Amino acid sequence: MMRDSPALLKATVEVRWPRPRAALVVLAGEHDLYSADEVRHALDQSLNDCGRLIVDLSAAESIDSTILAVLVEAMQNASDRERRFNVVLGTAPVVERILELAGVLPLLNVVPTLEQALAANEVLFREVNERIHHLIQETGGAHEENEFVCECASLGCTETIRMPVSEYKAVRESPRQFLVAFGHEQEAPYRVVRVGTGFLVVEREQGYGVEPKADERPVRATLRELRSQCRVTRNNGRYP
Ligand SMILES: [Zn+2]
Repeated sequence: MMRDSPALLKATVEVRWPRPRAALVVLAGEHDLYSADEVRHALDQSLNDCGRLIVDLSAAESIDSTILAVLVEAMQNASDRERRFNVVLGTAPVVERILELAGVLPLLNVVPTLEQALAANEVLFREVNERIHHLIQETGGAHEENEFVCECASLGCTETIRMPVSEYKAVRESPRQFLVAFGHEQEAPYRVVRVGTGFLVVEREQGYGVEPKADERPVRATLRELRSQCRVTRNNGRYP
């Protein structure tokens, strides 16, 4: 990366959508009072449309207390609205030190890479399915088939998959395999390893998405979110 380029020291704010309903706000350069309004605006706008907000500070050269306050405010807004929130620090030791000294580091659900921030999603949906599976076992009925939820990385996804419980169990044997509906398969680091009746099994490449501890919300909240997002149209024209 051209760290020496003066252009990079300029404060920039960029909003990207690495997944449907996952907003990524990238701050590069030196951010302070002068860029605070722009940063706040980008975060607020993204929060309106996303199910998950990721702030990438790995290209930030420095941030001051105004930006700190804006970040904490965004985290609180995200939490109030049941949006998931992560900060990607990458290798930004100066910024990490600033967050640490201010005592906000534990609040911001920091993850080292964007891949890890995105991987947290499928892990949550997998937990939902594990609860469903557990209930099936507890009720002891002869459930040969059951409905499970799609485990794709799109937070707005409310797709359910009806499949044999035995096939579900087979998917769970690998921690890198996930169950998704047709058309919900994702680009690398995922690949389709099995095409079932009404579902696909995708496998995440090794080395991606070490499961983050920072972003584990109760499954109850996830279910509530799933229900509230039933009203949201998938890919509502914003995304390719
Ligand atoms: Zn899906």
